[in-house]
Amino acid sequence: MKGFRASLLRFVAGDELERIDDALVVVDRGLIVDAGDHGALARRHPGVEIVDWRGLLIAPGFIDTHVHFAQVDAIASLADGLLQWLERCTFPQEARFGDPEHACVVADFFLDELARNGVTSAMVWCTSHLASTEAFFAASARRGLRMIAGKCLMDRNSPATVCDDTERGLAQTEALIGRWHGRDRLGYAITPRFAPACSERQLRGVAELARAREDVWLQSHLAETREEVAWVARLFPGSRSYLDVYDRLGLLRPRSVYAHCIHLDDADRVRMRESGASAAVCPNSNLFLGSGLFDFAAAARTRISWALASDVGAGPSLSPFRTMLAAYEVARLAGVSLTPGLLWHRHTLGAARALDLADRIGNVAAGMEADFVALDPRATALLARRSASAASLDELLFAMIVLGDDRVVRHTVIAGEAAVRVG
Ligand SMILES: [Zn+2]
Repeated sequence: MKGFRASLLRFVAGDELERIDDALVVVDRGLIVDAGDHGALARRHPGVEIVDWRGLLIAPGFIDTHVHFAQVDAIASLADGLLQWLERCTFPQEARFGDPEHACVVADFFLDELARNGVTSAMVWCTSHLASTEAFFAASARRGLRMIAGKCLMDRNSPATVCDDTERGLAQTEALIGRWHGRDRLGYAITPRFAPACSERQLRGVAELARAREDVWLQSHLAETREEVAWVARLFPGSRSYLDVYDRLGLLRPRSVYAHCIHLDDADRVRMRESGASAAVCPNSNLFLGSGLFDFAAAARTRISWALASDVGAGPSLSPFRTMLAAYEVARLAGVSLTPGLLWHRHTLGAARALDLADRIGNVAAGMEADFVALDPRATALLARRSASAASLDELLFAMIVLGDDRVVRHTVIAGEAAVRVG
């Protein structure tokens, strides 16, 4: 048993954030057994070994609901929008992941970077190659991480180097579910790339698998750019909308997460809410590719479930701070001001809820898995200066959102063990 002493940021009833100035987080065998005021907890747990992190702020580990591990080398690549970016920057990188050695090296680099940025769980895309998926799960298992991932399914309109055979892709998906889903803290996501890259036969196979295994996740892309939406309308002339393509096949359900969800109408949004599907909102990626702006007002009005995501490599950063800031800025362009608490929530507990994991991750509370971060509100000179004058918790959180990056993350704790120590 071990106790981490620091300030504590945690969610309490009604998804409100509260700060305890001098707190203790007691962990044992990967779980948080107690968290709260230091004075009371030190009496309740005498003799516990103390890790003294006073001056830092312990907070829930961040959760990235949409990220492509095989695109770390496609990051910061010039392109004229999504479809050209896929063609010229992404697919050539993904094509390298048939090589198990390359896949292992990149998986380890990617997981190091997640830890450095305070991301403790993610919903991850592997490539269409079996080797990429095996490498990612094996690397996550070695680190004891809670990760969801899946092998990408794409059997048309893609270069031969990444295009997959319809039946083989489905068979491999089934085998991967058997091998990795529920093993340690790993979960499988059935991963059709997006409607234009998947034949109807493949999508029907996905639907069959998804129906048979409600405990398995499902992830895809939806309505990212207007050009893509027009393409889907040509490929599926019988469907009312892009979302309707997935809906008719039965692919909208709890534990399904669709990235982007920009060019939707309210009928689509209502269907998303009714179905229990969630949107992974990727504002940095959307700005980078010029795809469009997620409509936060419409999301609130129609009460769809959404959470934040980096979408690396189209997203230019793995830092949750950069993503939260981009979300704030995108909402401002539509006259909406997202509160610091809401932004933080949608990258932690709200993201856990979108993944149907809120009983295990997303908060620092008794019974939760011990995945958390220790943040330094004085990590840079400017942040230290601005934090010192913060008159409320909201002001402090906003200063970290606007001025923060990986330098703010001093420690990342995975299952009670410090995964990274910076500085
Ligand atoms: Zn993506």
